[in-house]
Formats: sequence, C-alpha cells, structure tokens
Amino acid sequence: MSDLSDFSKTSPQLETVDVETIPTGIEPGSGSSKMKGGDGPTRKKNIPKGLWTKCGKCAELIYDKDLEENLKTCKSCGYHFPIAARARLASLVDEKSFKEMDGGMSSVDILKFTGVASYPSKLERYQNSTGESDAVITGLCKMGPHRVALGIMDFSFLGGSMGSVVGEKLTRLIETGTKKKLPVIIVSTSGGARMYEGMFSLMQMAKTCGALAYHSEARLPYISVLTHPTTAGVMASFASVGDLVIAEPGAMIGFAGPRVIKDTTQAELPPGFQTAEFLLDRGMIDAIVTRNQMRESLINYIDYLSAGLAKPKAKRAPRKKAS
Ligand SMILES: [Zn+2]
Repeated sequence: MSDLSDFSKTSPQLETVDVETIPTGIEPGSGSSKMKGGDGPTRKKNIPKGLWTKCGKCAELIYDKDLEENLKTCKSCGYHFPIAARARLASLVDEKSFKEMDGGMSSVDILKFTGVASYPSKLERYQNSTGESDAVITGLCKMGPHRVALGIMDFSFLGGSMGSVVGEKLTRLIETGTKKKLPVIIVSTSGGARMYEGMFSLMQMAKTCGALAYHSEARLPYISVLTHPTTAGVMASFASVGDLVIAEPGAMIGFAGPRVIKDTTQAELPPGFQTAEFLLDRGMIDAIVTRNQMRESLINYIDYLSAGLAKPKAKRAPRKKAS
C-alpha cells in the first residue's frame, strides 16, 4: 500500500508556483532528497505570481508560456516538471484522433471510508481541481501510422492512486486493445493503490495484469512508460510488465519509498537509488526517453514491436453500425 504522505513531501508539485515560496533543492527521484527551505525563510522577488516557475533542479526562472511550449521541461537542464494528463495526451497523439473511453466513470464509496475527510468529499475536490473523473484517461487514438490503445495517469488526482475506476478503465482499455488487435501504451504516475478503497484497490493489480496476459497471448505489444513518480501497487502490477518499459529522465520508480526501505533495512541507500537512471543501469528498465522525444520514440518502438504482426488492410469495408 502506498503512503501518499511520502510523496507530498518528496515529489515536486510545481504546477503553478508562487515564486516567493518555491522550495529549492528538489530533485525528481533523488530518493532520500527532501525539499529544502520549504519551511525556512523565503526569497523575496518582485515577480508577478503565476508567470514564472523556478526550475526544481537548476533554479533557473522559466517563463510559464515557454515551459508549456517545452512540454514542462527545463530548457537549461532538462528537468521534467509534472504535467497534467491532458497536456501529455496532446503531446503524444495525432490531433483530434483521441476517442476517449469511459470518460465519466467515477468511484463509489463502497467502504464508507472517512479519514480527515470523507472519500466522496475528496473525490469531489479532486474532480473539481483537475476536471477529470478519476486518475486515468483512457481511449483509442492514432500515433503516426499506428492505432493505439492509450492510457495516461494523472498524479494530480489523489496522487495518481489506483482505485476501482483506474483499474477498471485500464482493464477495459487493454481488453479493447486485445479485441481490436492494437498495441497498448500506458503512461503511469502513481503513489500506489488507493487506500480509501482498501482491498478493492489491491484487486486492480491482478485484474490489470490478467488483462495484459491475454493481450500478450494475442502477441500484441504493450509499452509501459514510467513517469515521476511511479511506485507501489502500480509499479508492482501493470507498470512493470511491459514488453518495453521506458521512463522519463529523473523519474522516481520503486515499490516502497526510500525512507521506508532505509528504516527497514537500516542500510545506507546508494546514490540515485530508485531513479530511472539507476534502474536503467541495472537492467530493470529498457530506455530513458525525454518528454520531447516520447511520441517519436513510441512510434518507432511500435514499428519495431509490430514488425512481425499482420498489417491492417489499407482499405476497409465500411463498419457496420454497432448493435
Ligand atoms: Zn533546470
């Protein structure tokens, strides 16, 4: 199970940042790093709020419009800021080709879970702040020459946690991919299983992997893209079983958080522990791809992975109306 409080402390949630209160020294996935200066004295600057964002790695001030145009990556050092699922979607798919599936699906409070706030009130808050019904967008799209079943998670919705809806939407996506003989791509970012749904969240691990097993049996490619952070129940299920597993630079990837591992093993963790670079070095992932090159790389990978598969016929008979 995830400890989302870990991530609120270590992941740079710098969507739109008040320059005066930006914590410094944040490294994506630097494991044991903590935001320095979050509670300390802040630097005063006469800069209008919401126009500039300070890079979490090189401290460069970046004009927000430039940041958006560069897919929320720093031009100076290549740091990857968090990006909303819709913006990522737009960067990956052919224009107007995305047909969303199960867009309105939202969770029910089956356990009547109440912590600091009730689960329905949490859901409502995040639905309002993100404009999404849950933490994943799924649908069919075109990417260059390929039709693809694509799922994109959003960390800004309850830490990208996987509850019944995330699991069900992804499972339906994968099953549709299998039925229509399409490659599946899932872009993950998650703090893990959603604690508000208890065992129902954990069940999604087996469900998504079961659907992927059928997809694999049909000899169809599945590419898993790991972004900062991808952890816990999501990393322990569909995110780690891709035919290809690729990651964004600096992404934190792991099961338990570094603090938990350190406390449990009482051992000093190696530098760069749980970063994409660390895992690539040890053969746990296949490649690191920058956000700006992601679309092109994914198209190339699908080219390669579907080389032996029958190509769809160039011209198709008009589709019969679905009954
Ligand atoms: Zn930078």
